[in-house]
Amino acid sequence: MIYTNKFEYPSYVIQYLENDEYDYDPDTFSATTLLKPPRVTVLERTYPDELEVDYSELVASRYGSSIHDSFEKVEIKGAIQEQRLKTLQNGMIVTGKFDMLMEISKNTYKLVDLKSTSAWTCVYGSKDEDYIKQLSIYRWLGNRNGLKIIDDAEICFFFTDWSKASANKNPNYPQSRIFIKPIKLMTFLETEEFINERIKLIRDAFIELPLCSDKELWKNKPDDPPRRCDYCSCKNVCNQYKMMTETKTI
Ligand code: SF4
Repeated sequence: MIYTNKFEYPSYVIQYLENDEYDYDPDTFSATTLLKPPRVTVLERTYPDELEVDYSELVASRYGSSIHDSFEKVEIKGAIQEQRLKTLQNGMIVTGKFDMLMEISKNTYKLVDLKSTSAWTCVYGSKDEDYIKQLSIYRWLGNRNGLKIIDDAEICFFFTDWSKASANKNPNYPQSRIFIKPIKLMTFLETEEFINERIKLIRDAFIELPLCSDKELWKNKPDDPPRRCDYCSCKNVCNQYKMMTETKTI
């Protein structure tokens, strides 16, 4: 990975940002990997030393880690916290680390996921589909590891940009800095089908590299700019990105 420092952060900020304790295992597919565009996964794993990220792009992820770390320091009553689960599916190890399983009755649990993000992401529900898939994969992994987890889960949002003025003006805006959003998970079978499909897409992508689709690029219509590329570390090694730059699509 190549790191750039466009905003000339001092060394103590860089050391803080570089301190990533994420337990990444390149020989597995995590829930996050299964949700990424297959093109991104293939490029990340084929050219790990040529990927490029600016330190400023790590800030949001470190905010998120800080919340997880401080939750982990508290022993939440009736909760199993931050466990990585694994299982073998179609010859591939699938992994996922849930934030919390709250015991709601003897040996029966509810999934809780901690998210730090913009309040508007919650208001518009723009990532709800991904959240449901991500948590459904955790539930599927939990079931495979002998844990009984119910269909109802919840997201505990910590907003990075919450504003009291917006809350006063708009009743649909979250009324406090922390907001709980209930979600309904996919069934075990739906989730397993989804996982099988994603494993196949990634495997196929290693044989023939697909393009990122408009949806994967977060475009609402074909003429929209491919917003995902702004946050993608593969730009250096991506011909699709190069082509879009040359044709001024970006
Ligand atoms: S740079 Fe853009 S097109 Fe290329 S892999 Fe990343 S998101 Fe997809």
